[in-house]
Amino acid sequence: MTRKIDVKCPYCGRKVTVEHDGLYADAHIATCDFMDGGCDRMFVADVKVSMTATARKIEGEAEKVAEG
Ligand SMILES: [Zn+2]
Repeated sequence: MTRKIDVKCPYCGRKVTVEHDGLYADAHIATCDFMDGGCDRMFVADVKVSMTATARKIEGEAEKVAEG
């Protein structure tokens, strides 16, 4: 799955969008696009991937009596 993520150019601070594919962290070479008003410099975008989980109750589970 390819996702787009915004990163700030370390030279001029402009927002640059990079595409990242997969679930693992990776580094991409990005160019601050001159045609888009950027500074035309290349930089490394280190993309990190994180995952979170939240818990929610299932109906009937709270009423269950533990055996043992
Ligand atoms: Zn720039």
